[in-house]
Amino acid sequence: MRKKTNISTILIQKAVKKTRPTASLKSSSTVTQGPVSTAPHEAGQVTKTRTPKQLQSLRGMRDILPSEQSYWQFLKEKCLRLSEEYGFERIDVPVLEAASLFERAIGKVTDIVEKEMFTFPDRGGDSVTLRPEFTAGAARAYLEHGFMNQPQPVKWYYEGSVYRYQRPQYGRQREFHQWGFEIFGDAHPVIDASLMMLAANLYADLGLPVTLQLNSVGDVVCRAAYEKVLLDYYRSHRRDLCEDCIQRTHRNPLRLLDCKQEQCQPIKAEAPQFVDHLCEACRDHLMKILEYLDELDISYVLNPYLVRGLDYYTRTVFEVWSQDDEMGRTALAGGGRYDRLLETLGGRPTPACGLSIGMEVAIIKMKESNIEVPVPSRPAVFIAQLGEPAKRKAIRLFEELRRSGVKVAASFSKDGLKAQMDAADKLGVRYAVILGQKEIMDGTIIIRDMEAGIQEIYDFKKIIPEIHKKLEVKSVVHQKAADYISDKQAD
Ligand SMILES: [Zn+2]
Ligand SMILES: [Zn+2]
Repeated sequence: MRKKTNISTILIQKAVKKTRPTASLKSSSTVTQGPVSTAPHEAGQVTKTRTPKQLQSLRGMRDILPSEQSYWQFLKEKCLRLSEEYGFERIDVPVLEAASLFERAIGKVTDIVEKEMFTFPDRGGDSVTLRPEFTAGAARAYLEHGFMNQPQPVKWYYEGSVYRYQRPQYGRQREFHQWGFEIFGDAHPVIDASLMMLAANLYADLGLPVTLQLNSVGDVVCRAAYEKVLLDYYRSHRRDLCEDCIQRTHRNPLRLLDCKQEQCQPIKAEAPQFVDHLCEACRDHLMKILEYLDELDISYVLNPYLVRGLDYYTRTVFEVWSQDDEMGRTALAGGGRYDRLLETLGGRPTPACGLSIGMEVAIIKMKESNIEVPVPSRPAVFIAQLGEPAKRKAIRLFEELRRSGVKVAASFSKDGLKAQMDAADKLGVRYAVILGQKEIMDGTIIIRDMEAGIQEIYDFKKIIPEIHKKLEVKSVVHQKAADYISDKQAD
């Protein structure tokens, strides 16, 4: 008797220990904050208080709740299939890298590096940054692991979260997710076209109407000359420019073309275009891409204002816009060629091209377009039980059915049959199997057809083949289950 009391005391104490951290982490508007006490009977006390502020998610960081997961799963499956079909291999790079990596790769005079990076000293005093994009990390990994010595091109895909300290707005949070592709070691324009084709196919698969926007931003041979022409033009309109554009004339001339301010639009419309100032090699490269896209029947818009906000691009830049987004305020995907990046990071000259897919914005568009995604399949069978011996047998039956390939559900913590049948109803199962005291004594079990409302009694030993027959589970699985059961019975 004494021993028993001890065990139950331990169990209660364990339960008390468990409840505390769970309660304090709740993110709803009320939390359970019982007075801290070792006495078990006080553990359940609840006082309503406001959630302490530090327990809410940070601005621009959001939870992806279970109800949204079917969209994520659907999108990720599409991305994965294309990644594999186009011959990409997966790489994962760390979320945290040296700040200097991004400063060197993206460029110091860019919005991302100047304003948007989560950069902080770690405990050792090193300046580190939460990745604001993937390309820099992938390029670092390519160099660090000597992939330049392997057959080229090297084709990688990745997925994960990126971080930018920006004002949260439509489709843009501070933490967001990308699925991306990099192709290292190949300068051929067919590489650029293949990434555009991949993007076009993804959105076609998702059922989202999009436009492919592309441009060339030249290379070392022709960029400086074009920037001078552009600057001369913009300086002659200096008085009509917005504040940002005046800054850009000093710091980052290509970004002048990116201005979305109303007052700068007429100036932008008349601005000299890079396509007219490309060197011969860059022009040929662009023309080839257009030929391949034509060959593939992929429509595109040659957009002279598309420059993208990162320094490392050379020649090709492209974005995928939703068809209803004529200004490209929220790009669904973006990419381009970055033939000088690996050199900038200390490698030998290595051409490369990449594409990244914005996951959140794709899901927003899918929801707006009422695109239906498959929901997870429902359980087919619910196991209900009444009384402790039945509960024990039911737990084991759950395992046996699950292993035999039947999707099964139960509420073992509930004792009342009504509550369990309500749960079964809510889940929409086709059959409930019921084990009560009588069934335990007789070695039987009840199968209830939930839709027809008909109950039948079966020999417990035959329950799995019977369920399989009703659900028309394939015979292989059926045989496996039968073997499993007879093994069990032989034990
Ligand atoms: Zn402007
Ligand atoms: Zn050029």
